[in-house]
Amino acid sequence: MNKPKNYKLFIDGAWVDSVSGETFASDNPARPKQILGTFQKGCNEDVDKAVEAAESVFPKWNGTPAPERGLILLRAAHLLLENKEQLASEMTMEMGKVVQESRGDVQEAVDVTEYMAGEGRRLFGFTTPSELRKKLCLTIRMPIGVCGLITPWNFPLAIPAWKIMTALICGNTVLFKPSSDTPLCATRLVETLDKAGLPKGVLNMVTGSGDDVGMAVVKHENVGAVSFTGHRDTGATILREAGLKRVGLEMGGKNGIVVMDDADLNLALEGVIWGGYGTTGQRCTAASRVIVQEKIKNKFERMLVNRIRKLKLGNGLKPETDVGPLINKAAQEKSAKYVEIGKNEGAKLLIGGKIPAMDGFFFEPTLFTNCTVDMRIAQEEIFGPVVSLISVRNLDEAIDAINSVEYGLSSAIYTKDIGKACEAITRIKAGLTYVNSSTIGSEVHLPFGGVKHTGIGTREGGIEGINEFSETKTVYIDYSGKLQKAQIDIG
Ligand code: NAD
Repeated sequence: MNKPKNYKLFIDGAWVDSVSGETFASDNPARPKQILGTFQKGCNEDVDKAVEAAESVFPKWNGTPAPERGLILLRAAHLLLENKEQLASEMTMEMGKVVQESRGDVQEAVDVTEYMAGEGRRLFGFTTPSELRKKLCLTIRMPIGVCGLITPWNFPLAIPAWKIMTALICGNTVLFKPSSDTPLCATRLVETLDKAGLPKGVLNMVTGSGDDVGMAVVKHENVGAVSFTGHRDTGATILREAGLKRVGLEMGGKNGIVVMDDADLNLALEGVIWGGYGTTGQRCTAASRVIVQEKIKNKFERMLVNRIRKLKLGNGLKPETDVGPLINKAAQEKSAKYVEIGKNEGAKLLIGGKIPAMDGFFFEPTLFTNCTVDMRIAQEEIFGPVVSLISVRNLDEAIDAINSVEYGLSSAIYTKDIGKACEAITRIKAGLTYVNSSTIGSEVHLPFGGVKHTGIGTREGGIEGINEFSETKTVYIDYSGKLQKAQIDIG
């Protein structure tokens, strides 16, 4: 077997070794012995160098007209699109999701890059009348400075692209710290932006552990904003350690799908299968709870079990595969642990629950029923193909069940009754509610994010993403030729 390629950090426009002299490997979770490359274990000094590079080029990048910045992004979008197949198959090898989903991930990166390229000609502020004569009032957007972007592995191109492209179009410079489970995808994204003509120093990437590189980014006093997507506990640590800088957090979920007894059950079935077992349950928006009305419980359980039985586990590059592996051994063990917890809590295991005898970090698609809202399997984020079914008598109980968790990212309701749908839309505490569709399927021009322990008010996507990565400056232009005092010289 060929020696795996040794990939580098990207600092000030150059691909360089880490000062640490250490590396780590990225493997294929479907075939853990296959090493895709070795990557630099970054350290504090690498972070310092990257921040210095980003700081020194900031005035030049900020001084570049936003439409010109947009043209570089547009070139990057084209390059991503041209390389979609190659990027998607590498992604499947690095993180295991089936290749159709990897194509979707690449497409999402293309979409957000194209969208943010167009933002270069908008970046709207607003104007409003003044209370005084001969005075104009308006707002403009300012970049923040150096942004530290810390990303998870489950959308290894899309999530970095959501952050990087938005930060860049607003005129910020970037230090990107990707997940150590998917450094190859991260490297490909940085290579693409470099090829698209991004000036040196504008985007820097330091790979390495969260505790070392991630924390160094978070604590760095010359990093003006940190935008993080990942686990709730990591987000809480970041919020504590970041000091006086902007922090954006997109964290976990325990999302639920409500199926009312008037729903189109075949449609709901497809939604639950896609939401619960797509990406092997490893999406922040995965549907890990199904809340069904009592009347249809037995029937819907049978439909689910029949469908789950047909799901084919395997290597995501094979066209017949429905469900790929989990990202690593720890994730596999976590799903197994929660199956035991569920059994001990008295939930009934309907199907799955085991690590199959396969090479790779696979786990059987699993369904529990007779769950109650307070069970740990119905409360905690498992991030694996383990779904809990809870039955309720009516819509009020369904909404209470959905709202019973600490998280608030995505939610869905299947019903033909518009009134019930509207009740759900207005009463579910979550950043996203889907009607007659699964918990999954965000589009890049709409806001994305959650409430409660999922987020702290920031949203990515569209104009709300621009808000995360820009400061608003209020401008008053007084052309009266005299000192006019607001609130005093009125009337
Ligand atoms: P994670 O929190 O373990 O890691 C995310 C990133 O944070 C990685 O780059 C990691 O190296 C870094 N990190 C870890 N410890 C750090 C520290 N002390 N300081 C700074 N950085 C640190 O999460 P993960 O396992 O990569 O991703 C899965 C989690 O992400 C799940 O909880 C999932 O719900 C969540 N997620 C949320 C969204 C969303 O938009 N809300 C999207 C995708 C994933």
